[in-house]
Amino acid sequence: MFFTGARVTMNATIVGGHTIGRYAFIGAGAVVTKDIPDYALVVGNPGRVTGWMCECGVKLAAGSKPPVHASCGACGTAYMSRDRQLIRTDSQ
Ligand SMILES: [Zn+2]
Repeated sequence: MFFTGARVTMNATIVGGHTIGRYAFIGAGAVVTKDIPDYALVVGNPGRVTGWMCECGVKLAAGSKPPVHASCGACGTAYMSRDRQLIRTDSQ
C-alpha cells in the first residue's frame, strides 16, 4: 500500500506487501523488506532508514531514528517524533 506523497524512485524494489508511509522517500536501488514509516528516507539493500524528509522534499535529519524535533529550512513545517514515527507538530 502506498500513501499520499510517497516517492519511490526507479529501480527501487518493494518486497512483499509492505506499507510505504506518507511522504516516505525510497532511494534508487533500495530494496524494501519491511514497513516504512512516514517521512522516512530509505536506501540500500536491504533498505535502511538513513534520514527523514519534509513533505516538500527537503531532508530534515539524518539517522535511523526520527529527530525529537525538526523544522524544515525550506518551507518551515515543524515535526516531532512520537512512538518512533515522525509526525507534523500541527497534526496532533
Ligand atoms: Zn519543507
